[in-house]
Amino acid sequence: MRPPGHHAGKNGTAMGAATLGFCYFNNIAIAVKKLEKSILILDIDGHHGNGTQEIFQGDPKVTYVSLHLYPTYPGTGLTSQGNCLNFPLPYSTGNSLYLKTLEKALSQIDMANVEVVAISAGFDAHDGDLASVGLTFEGYREIGRMVGALGKPVFGVLEGGYVGEYVGRDLRELITGIEEKQ
Ligand SMILES: [Zn+2]
Repeated sequence: MRPPGHHAGKNGTAMGAATLGFCYFNNIAIAVKKLEKSILILDIDGHHGNGTQEIFQGDPKVTYVSLHLYPTYPGTGLTSQGNCLNFPLPYSTGNSLYLKTLEKALSQIDMANVEVVAISAGFDAHDGDLASVGLTFEGYREIGRMVGALGKPVFGVLEGGYVGEYVGRDLRELITGIEEKQ
C-alpha cells in the first residue's frame, strides 16, 4: 500500500518529529489494534517508526522492535523505552551486522507470549535508498528466514522504499525467506 504509515501517531506527528513523513494513517497500528492479540511488531523500515512507538508505548499486548538508520529523520528511536526496543544503526551497517542485531533483538523477546508477528515492511534500508544501512536482496531474504523461524503467523504492511527497481524484489525475497523457514 501507499503511502506508508509508521510515522503517523495518535494525533498526527509523533514524538516531536517535524512532519508526518509521507504518512496519513498508521496502517500497521490499525491492523494490530483490530487483531486484539499479543503481537510483535517488527519494523524493518530504515526509519524509526515514531508513530507506531507512540501508539503502542506501554501497551502490555504489543512489543515494538525497530532497526533503523540513526541519525536521520524523524530523529527518534535512539534508545529503548519499556516495550519499545530500538536499535539505531549506522549508514555503514551492512547485512552481517544488521542480521546480528536482529538476532539480538529477537533474543530479548519472550516469544511464548507472542501470537502474531506484524512486519512494518519498509525497504528503504536497502543499499542506496533513502535510509540505507547497506542491506541487499540477500539481506532481506535472511530477515525473512529469521522471521519464518519464529514459527508464528506473520503479516506485513508496506512502509517506505523509494527505489522502484528494488522494492518488488526486496518484498519477494522477504516473503520467500519467511516461507522457506515456516
Ligand atoms: Zn522509511
